[in-house]
Amino acid sequence: MSDSFQSVLDRIAGEIEATPGRGRPADYIPALAAVDPNRFGMAVAELDGTVHGVGDWQQPFSTQSITKVFTLALALAQEDDELWEHVGREPSGNPFNSLVQLEYENGIPRNPFINAGALVVTDRLQFLTGDASGTLRDFLRAESGNPDLTFDLAVADSEAAHGDRNAALAHFMASYGNITCSVPELLDQYIRQCSIEASCGDLALAAGFLARHGIRADGSTLLSRSRAKQVNAVMLTCGTYDAAGDFAHRVGLPGKSGVGGGIIAVVPGRCTVCVWSPGLDERGNSVAGVAALDRFTTHTGLSIF
Ligand code: GLN
Repeated sequence: MSDSFQSVLDRIAGEIEATPGRGRPADYIPALAAVDPNRFGMAVAELDGTVHGVGDWQQPFSTQSITKVFTLALALAQEDDELWEHVGREPSGNPFNSLVQLEYENGIPRNPFINAGALVVTDRLQFLTGDASGTLRDFLRAESGNPDLTFDLAVADSEAAHGDRNAALAHFMASYGNITCSVPELLDQYIRQCSIEASCGDLALAAGFLARHGIRADGSTLLSRSRAKQVNAVMLTCGTYDAAGDFAHRVGLPGKSGVGGGIIAVVPGRCTVCVWSPGLDERGNSVAGVAALDRFTTHTGLSIF
């Protein structure tokens, strides 16, 4: 399949290039609006770390909400089921930055992949490690083998200057006692986390533990097999926000998107895929990214269904 992974990627890149309509880069974080919507990259990492790529697959981009998968895994690795007392695991059916359900559900967010839920997970990781964003960066460096992977502080500053919505979410949850850190400390950690820059190749490698049933690149265990299954399940049902049903219908893989235009997807026991194209649809998912993953599972038959 190795050779054919490369030919499938080449075929998809050609098909995407021939397809008009890329959506628009996120503009509520001004630093992201400047990225060329015509960029496209895609990488597949096999379980042994062999990587195949096409287009801009080595170009670092803003990972944004993709990081929510990694912080969830790192927090679960530290505190097991206690985490689920602070955040649920049901699809929200609402936009990723919505506040509406929090009041009815006593400040417990629906799932870890909407902003409210990710703020809670980062709060737990900060409480447990004292440096949530640094712990995340070091994990991504170790799994990708890229020592240069780091924060883009210009993106972080840009988001911090337009962070009223996340500040509102954090304060509201703090009023229910569901945030442990101070809100300014939490927002600083969360925004740094989202600003991490990485390439499709880096992210496909870093997500490899989800395809290896919880085993890290060095052979050590991050998550039990059962817990890795649970993270993949939450990705499938909640990883693309209020488009998770459509993503499952089209792609049929656990996936997690970010407003930088990246998406990671997992084929358990087989490989991980990362795609990047900055133009988004109205739900905040990459238009060409979802189309490329749709083609990936169509051409390879590697959907979980
Ligand atoms: N940093 C972004 C935010 O909090 C991440 C959102 C996303 O990628 N969906 O709004």
